[in-house]
Amino acid sequence: MSPFRSHMDLALSQARAAAARGEVPVGAVVVAPDGRVLAAEGNRGRERADPTAHAEMLAIRAACAALGSERLTGCALYVTLEPCPMCAAAIGAARIARLYYGAADPKSGGVAQGPRIFGHPQSHHVPEVYDGLAAEDCAALLRRFFAERRG
Ligand SMILES: [Zn+2]
Repeated sequence: MSPFRSHMDLALSQARAAAARGEVPVGAVVVAPDGRVLAAEGNRGRERADPTAHAEMLAIRAACAALGSERLTGCALYVTLEPCPMCAAAIGAARIARLYYGAADPKSGGVAQGPRIFGHPQSHHVPEVYDGLAAEDCAALLRRFFAERRG
């Protein structure tokens, strides 16, 4: 299995764990330049009563804590859903080198649509962005979660 796919599989397992907690199933993984996984987190907004507790924010915080640094220079972030504007801004602030995401998020995404944070002139650091990684698996998880909640 390619490292890209296996890191996204880890993000997917975090997303499934989030769904089991009643959270919107989104998972994120931060990988160091040497390939070491620094953090793997899922959404915890409901659990923590915190609207900023998105998978990406939690993974960035945990990875920064692990490195003792406010920057994740050279690191990659894998996330199952297109980051929202808040998370995209945090990804830029953390100086993450590469962003891999799965499903597009037409409703709340801030990378390829909506505010397109990295295309904005005020974006001081722009990661390389790779979208559509395991997109169907990521999207199916979200569809199932919302269908079950409606049902
Ligand atoms: Zn977010």
